[in-house]
Amino acid sequence: MSSDGNSSDEEEQEILLSDISELRSARQHTPALPTVYQPTRTILHVDVDCFYAQSIFIRCDDSGDTAEPPPQPAIAVQQKHIVVTCNYPARALGVGKLTGIKAALRLQEQGLVKVHDGSDLTEFRADSYTIYETVRQFFNERFGKRGLLFKACKSGMDEYNIDVSNTVNSGVGALELANELRKFVFSRTRFTTSVGAGPNIFLAKMAANEKKPYGSFYMSLEEARPRILEMPLRSLPGLGRASLNVMKEQIQKANFPPGTSEEAKLIVKHLLNTSTDALCDDQDTGLLSRADVEKFKEMGRGLDRRPVEDDEFKDKKRSGIEQSFIRGTLTDSKSVKAEISTLSGRLLKLIAEENSRFKGDARVGKNLVVTIRDRGEDGKSSYSASRKSKSVPWPGCNRDQLTLAASRLFELLAKSHYGSDKEFNITLINLAIEWADSGAAKAKKRGIQDIAGFFTAASSNPAKKI
Ligand SMILES: [Mg+2]
Repeated sequence: MSSDGNSSDEEEQEILLSDISELRSARQHTPALPTVYQPTRTILHVDVDCFYAQSIFIRCDDSGDTAEPPPQPAIAVQQKHIVVTCNYPARALGVGKLTGIKAALRLQEQGLVKVHDGSDLTEFRADSYTIYETVRQFFNERFGKRGLLFKACKSGMDEYNIDVSNTVNSGVGALELANELRKFVFSRTRFTTSVGAGPNIFLAKMAANEKKPYGSFYMSLEEARPRILEMPLRSLPGLGRASLNVMKEQIQKANFPPGTSEEAKLIVKHLLNTSTDALCDDQDTGLLSRADVEKFKEMGRGLDRRPVEDDEFKDKKRSGIEQSFIRGTLTDSKSVKAEISTLSGRLLKLIAEENSRFKGDARVGKNLVVTIRDRGEDGKSSYSASRKSKSVPWPGCNRDQLTLAASRLFELLAKSHYGSDKEFNITLINLAIEWADSGAAKAKKRGIQDIAGFFTAASSNPAKKI
């Protein structure tokens, strides 16, 4: 498998996304899935090719409007002491994603690679939204007049899903649409993307990885099924780290009892070959319920019911910024204070950016939330269990006050977690603002209460009615 496959893209996001908490909360708030599987859907998945490196390239590219993408120099993106991502020319020189920075810096000395700092995500986020808006513009310009509805959402910094069932059912070919979309995005933004098409989000995403860079592909269920069977379990959408570990344990127990010498590399086929009863989490940690097992087995057969939720006007509950650290590198409170000050500045920038794009009523900050993570020595401890949060009422958009409040929360967290704010060893700090309910959301809630109150009053005291 080449290094630009599914997994590496996910790793890239995991490390690089400061606003990953936003994604996580979006996932947690996924509404109930439709009960009937819809075989006639068509989904497009847009994935920007080497997004971060491309974004840096485009900022300083002066080759003007070209019909085809211009060749790029080798670019590596640095965060702290590692290369978090790089483009294809850099990979050709041996630079790897998530590797130490030294080799890349040596190549830079020889004039072969350009190393850019990618710690501040402001400009990346701006590009990410520009591309998203361009995707929406394509459908509005091309089909808006014919009244064909589409639903589009951002599913990461550089990924977008679009439900184009209406358009395809009206006679436009899915692959034709994917090709047109990627050319449109390039002509308007200079970004090359790979656009996959398929009957659901999972398969469309697989399709987008087929013809990278700047290609399109349609992944049918027939073609996807045998390939999914051979994929590692972690490729199943929505399978978090903790649930994955429970699933592996259960499969191992059912198929390879202790004493078997076989150290199995578990793939999707193993999941489908294990009975649902054997897979349900018998330690009752709540990580793998029967419904979950059935859902993941369905995914294993290439069926994915997740809807594309149009997020043009979606209210966010919180907005956050985070920074991860290699274990053992952040152990004194002075460097923590410095990191918190940097993150405070970035959070305020994020809030200003979001507010300028926000289409509803002005938003009001409710709480400041600080989260720290401490992944155990074995690197195995459950993701959610190792995250600890504390919050205070939002101190306002003054950087010094924000830094002060966040540092105080950090001290409290460190004390309750380590018994002291002097000794700690954390791998992540996240600063987030929790938004108060918007006017619209409040009105909606009030409306429901008013109606409920009306019925209660009317039925509990019928004598007064006349
Ligand atoms: Mg990408």
